[in-house]
Amino acid sequence: MDSTGGWWHLHGGGWARGNGWRRISRMVSNTPNTWEVDWFSLSAVILLLCTAPFLVFFFVMVCDQYQCSVSQPLVELYSGEVTLRSIWEKAPSFTWTAAQIYTIWVSFQVVLYMCVPDITHKFLPGYAGGVQDGARTPAGLINKYEINGLQSWLITHALWYANAQYFHWFSPTIIFDNWIPLLWCTNILGYAVSTFAFVKAYLFPTNAEDCKFTGNVFYNYMMGIEFNPRIGKWFDFKLFFNGRPGIVAWTLINLSYAAKQQELYGYVTNSMILVNVLQAIYVLDFFWNEAWYLKTIDICHDHFGWYLGWGDCVWLPFLYTLQGLYLVYNPVQLSTAHAAAVLLLGLVGYYVFRSTNHQKDLFRSTEGKCSIWGKKPTFIECAYRSGDGGLHHSKLMTSGFWGVARHLNYTGDLMGSLAYCAACGFGHIHPYFYIVYMTILLVHRCVRDEHRCSSKYGKDWKRYTDAVPYRLLPGIF
Ligand code: NDP
Repeated sequence: MDSTGGWWHLHGGGWARGNGWRRISRMVSNTPNTWEVDWFSLSAVILLLCTAPFLVFFFVMVCDQYQCSVSQPLVELYSGEVTLRSIWEKAPSFTWTAAQIYTIWVSFQVVLYMCVPDITHKFLPGYAGGVQDGARTPAGLINKYEINGLQSWLITHALWYANAQYFHWFSPTIIFDNWIPLLWCTNILGYAVSTFAFVKAYLFPTNAEDCKFTGNVFYNYMMGIEFNPRIGKWFDFKLFFNGRPGIVAWTLINLSYAAKQQELYGYVTNSMILVNVLQAIYVLDFFWNEAWYLKTIDICHDHFGWYLGWGDCVWLPFLYTLQGLYLVYNPVQLSTAHAAAVLLLGLVGYYVFRSTNHQKDLFRSTEGKCSIWGKKPTFIECAYRSGDGGLHHSKLMTSGFWGVARHLNYTGDLMGSLAYCAACGFGHIHPYFYIVYMTILLVHRCVRDEHRCSSKYGKDWKRYTDAVPYRLLPGIF
């Protein structure tokens, strides 16, 4: 517990802030927070800013030019057979066709987000759509959100289906056929939106008290200054960019890959079907639980900068869909046993991921007055102080999945991620990039979340970690 400044001022937003950040001025009314960045964090930020776009290009380019072999271009570069310039020159460039496709796509998603209020919650039992409250921000605001992601996903996919079956306005392979030119377009939007959010934070922030300034321009740009930048009352950058152009597209991109397999080989492999089905479950789960998502770390703690803006526009659609891309170039047909094992791993992973998240949600929303695995949940009572000095109470559950390990939701997510990769067989490491990345992401997330919780709850957090000693894998980590 931090009695001098409040846990969320010190640990509410940035990336591993507790390790790398020292607050140098207190937030007072209408005066933004100021932070100082250490050299390690700054180097990491600059390294990511400089390398991430090339990493995305690399993983897409190796499929286009090397049948998805990651090592071949490196060997050829080393032996002098090719140069960076020759690789670059062979890659498709920006096209106006791709720009048109992408402009129509993003505009359509904006229209669905802004102009079509949710009606699905009126006839889908158990679905929480329509206007919902977000979590309280550090400055004490509770934002309202129009939750209509599921509806947008359904409309988009119904139109996609209608086009493929009846209208034939465009080929279902359109995304694959323009993939590298689209990479240029997504980069343009990713950088534009991050730069706009950066400038907006200085000139016309949505809520000045929820801004976080570090004194370092690179860190500000990357990790974001504004907490919940908005245009008008309803256009929320975080909800729109995280959910819409990227995650709605995720399943369409996979469908486009499947269509390409059909066009090239005359059939769709069982591996492609598995990847499509398992990832569609994950995407639909995201939209079904979009209101819950308002309470996760992305929306509750992260500020909106390049990390989210560019990441949502470029990193997510290109790198989360690598398995399908790989399978277009390498049409792996799995044995029945292999396919069944992948399906089982994916479904068990999904079950652990969803049930763990659901248990916490149920526990928190009923304040522990519920049944977990047929019993009353056990928990640790915690106290913490908010920035205004107020004393609050909370509970940390120690039963159900939360009694097995402290982050089994991440473990389930990782099992699902491994299933997507394993669906591609063992011919290349290319599709396994995803599990490596997700492991780094979620282990890092786990560490930074625990750092924040430890600062928030102090010795109560210690009591919790004594009761539940492992993070992701009981007995191991
Ligand atoms: P969690 O949903 O695990 O939330 C962590 C918070 O839960 C803690 O900060 C604490 O908040 C509270 N908490 C911790 N332990 C307990 C407990 N025992 N009982 C009750 N509350 C507890 O984290 P995320 O928001 O990171 O993840 C949500 C999901 O999203 C995960 O399943 C994750 O796998 C997934 N995800 C997927 C990503 C992807 O790219 N595919 C990226 C990021 C996340 P408090 O301060 O309220 O106590």
